Amino acid sequence: MADEFVVTIDGPAGSGKTTTAREIARRLNFVLLESGAFYRFVTWALLKQGVLPGKFPHYEGLRSLISSLLKEVRVKLSPEGTVLILNDQPLKEELRSKEVENWVSFVSAHPVVRETITSFLRDLVKGREVVTEGRDMGTVVFPKANLKVFLTADIEVRAKRRANDVEDRNLEEIKRNLLERDKLDSERELAPLKKPEGALEIDTTNLSIEKVVERIISEIERRKVSRMKT
Ligand code: C5P
Repeated sequence: MADEFVVTIDGPAGSGKTTTAREIARRLNFVLLESGAFYRFVTWALLKQGVLPGKFPHYEGLRSLISSLLKEVRVKLSPEGTVLILNDQPLKEELRSKEVENWVSFVSAHPVVRETITSFLRDLVKGREVVTEGRDMGTVVFPKANLKVFLTADIEVRAKRRANDVEDRNLEEIKRNLLERDKLDSERELAPLKKPEGALEIDTTNLSIEKVVERIISEIERRKVSRMKT
């Protein structure tokens, strides 16, 4: 079995994290851990159970509810991404619904939600070669990762990229939603979105995915070689 090797890719929505991370995972045969899926899953489940919006965030049994939700879900990691399976059904569109998008940043700011998901993610990657993407992968969850990357891009470019991913939404609405999420994710007290210490920062506004991927892969290779020497 290969030694554990963790690459973190953080950045705002639409900065190219997922596409970049997936391409790297495919080329190097790493698994792709999309941490946002877990925040979306918890948000979706809380909405479904009626804990949101009414009882959250003061719901007493929140910690045990989230722990049991995470125990119920099966996680399939591959170079293609992260699939959460509940009662033998893979969760897909439901995690990308407008309702989930509207609530996810609010839910993600809650300390109990973050603690529970953080420790779940750490257990998931043990002993694996993984590319993981999100908001706090390099700052909080895996601060000792073998390589930390921080991606940025202009809001116009990010909104256009997001518009290609979802149907039935206009650009202005997407832009508003992204700016709102950026603000909540960057200004929250716990694990705010920011560049991790020692991270390689890449502005992807005018770069092709290919260029971004090449740059990161050459850095991974360099670090693997230097690890072998020590
Ligand atoms: O990356 P994705 O768009 O799926 O993330 C959805 C939301 O989940 C983000 O806007 C953020 O509020 C939250 N999130 C987070 N920490 C992460 C990943 C996602 O707070 N590591």
